Amino acid sequence: MCCRSMSYLLDALSSSWQQFQLICVIFCAGLAVESLLPAEGGQPLKHVGFNILYTVIFLLLTNLLAPSLMALIRPWIEQWGVAIPVEFPDGFAGQLGQVLVFLLIMDFFYYWFHRAQHLVPALWAQHKLHHSETSLNITTSSRHHWLEEPFRVFAMWLPIGLLFQQRPMTIAWLWSFFLLWGYVIHLNVRLPLGPLTPVLCGPQLHRIHHSRLPEHADRNFAAFFPIFDLLFGTYCRPDRNTYPATGLHDGEDLNGVFRSSLSPFRDWLAMLGRHRDKSHHDPRKH
Ligand SMILES: [Zn+2]
Ligand SMILES: [Zn+2]
Repeated sequence: MCCRSMSYLLDALSSSWQQFQLICVIFCAGLAVESLLPAEGGQPLKHVGFNILYTVIFLLLTNLLAPSLMALIRPWIEQWGVAIPVEFPDGFAGQLGQVLVFLLIMDFFYYWFHRAQHLVPALWAQHKLHHSETSLNITTSSRHHWLEEPFRVFAMWLPIGLLFQQRPMTIAWLWSFFLLWGYVIHLNVRLPLGPLTPVLCGPQLHRIHHSRLPEHADRNFAAFFPIFDLLFGTYCRPDRNTYPATGLHDGEDLNGVFRSSLSPFRDWLAMLGRHRDKSHHDPRKH
């Protein structure tokens, strides 16, 4: 193996290890909060264990694939990007505004990518691992198939990069706070946000997104701002005491390392087979 590949591999391993340690701290804090006011009691520990194990696979493969893909799209952005400036004045208020605008842009693209993951069968095959969680909790936030980040490179970071020019963020703690929000919305806590419910995504609103009930299907796609669900007709405001059971509507169990990692490929092959059968039996072709 040449030196460059070795150093790329070592970088991926080192980043994964650092991120895993940080995520473990976040998980411990989240599980402690969940024990105080759980939305759903008696969740099986083996599901938490599986999510933590899958986090390792997710981080390793993400850190192996995402940097190469980001390097692949960078020249496209430099060559074809229109670089609409997102610039605010210096100072706290300006930087706060810049972070908020960036998050709105990001959430807009996430909303549409996430909605497509639910509506396009080929994308659902990759996303359904996240929804196969029957005991939603903080560790579910890392229960994404390892192709999630590679898909986001093209569905989110490429269009955002082509359209907007970003100034480097200088309020690191604020940025980190918003990154942490992805963990907060998966918390297994009974915490209605009251009048803030349509303003900011919280654990209850996101639990509706994971609900097994047919009336909650394909609702609340945004990660930060429910305004996008309100604007595009997918918003569902829960009653104060609504904390539905979560999981896939067909009850498919994906709690297994190989099962979860290979599940999209199995589904894609089945789709291809059905497509071939259909075109084979198409009377117009005879
Ligand atoms: Zn989803
Ligand atoms: Zn989720």
